[in-house]
Amino acid sequence: MSLLVLNKRDVESLLSMEQCISLMSDALASLARGEVVLPLRPIIRIPDSRNVYGVMPAYSAALKSIGTKLISVFPDNHGTKLDSHQGAVALFDGTNGSMVALMEAAAITAIRTAAVSGVATRLLAEPKAETVAILGSGVQGRTHIDAMLAVRPFKRVIVWSRSTEHATELVNAKRKTHDSQFEVAASVEKAVTVADVICTVTASREPVLKGEWLKAGAHINAVGASLATTRELDTDTVKRSRVFVDRRESALNEAGDLLIPMKEGAFKAEDIVAEIGELLIGSAKGRRNEQEITLFKSLGIAVEDLACAHWLYERARAEGVGTSVEF
Ligand code: NDP
Repeated sequence: MSLLVLNKRDVESLLSMEQCISLMSDALASLARGEVVLPLRPIIRIPDSRNVYGVMPAYSAALKSIGTKLISVFPDNHGTKLDSHQGAVALFDGTNGSMVALMEAAAITAIRTAAVSGVATRLLAEPKAETVAILGSGVQGRTHIDAMLAVRPFKRVIVWSRSTEHATELVNAKRKTHDSQFEVAASVEKAVTVADVICTVTASREPVLKGEWLKAGAHINAVGASLATTRELDTDTVKRSRVFVDRRESALNEAGDLLIPMKEGAFKAEDIVAEIGELLIGSAKGRRNEQEITLFKSLGIAVEDLACAHWLYERARAEGVGTSVEF
């Protein structure tokens, strides 16, 4: 049996942000139509550390594909040669059960997560939004700038990061590839009080964003916290927002950004307005007016990785990219 292996370079050369935004729209719509089997992901917390290992399986009837992402998250790798996210996506043929490909997962995760925020922003941000604030300057900070500029012609991009040096490096790199006005903010407050769209993409376990700083009409993509016990948003941010998620079941099990306010009695499961896929298929309504604050809580779900892997496999086969091995 022949197995196609795609490394990080292969994935990055094939999968553009624009392409991925379109793939993620299709995948989330398919989920909302009930065409996807998506169990909750088991996560092993590595004792005495912040490190986790997750297994993310999915089946798509529309794609006739099965896939699983195996991913370790070691936050302290940030700033070293190693990515904080490492792993692989294994792709199986849904008609005969063969494993057909193995792909580098950090590149897929970097692009697809930002692409999903792009989909949410396109659906929920005010059409007149001009300024985007990015909180965090790691891998997701980098790809979120690309995703935001792919869906809206933001005039200003303001980056805040715990390390001003990291924020400055990111801004200097992005000035070379995008025409918007890039700035580094000295504080989160300075970045977000003027922002129409805010992306929280930090590895912080405690709130970095406060509701009192939010502008009327803002849209937030909350991406960084993926465990029931961690959060980037304070309770006030959640209370002030109409909340959308990638998937209800996952949000109610894994999203500390929502679960902690729920424990405090400040938020209820029924307060989740819709999944992004429900907006895409027209079964729920997104933003209602210019004043309300919308919040997309992203956790990352396996159908996103599966949709990328399925598309990458077809494209790589067509273009002769990757390495085939006998397995
Ligand atoms: P990186 O390791 O590349 O970057 C980490 C970022 O977090 C850096 O900008 C760092 O800032 C910042 N940071 C770390 N600790 C803190 C803190 N205590 N307070 C404020 N900022 C902090 O990670 P990624 O960019 O790959 O991922 C960012 C977050 O997004 C992670 O939590 C990750 O698990 C999550 N994630 C979510 C996904 C989803 O689908 N929702 C998918 C992938 C990732 P500095 O460099 O200035 O120190």
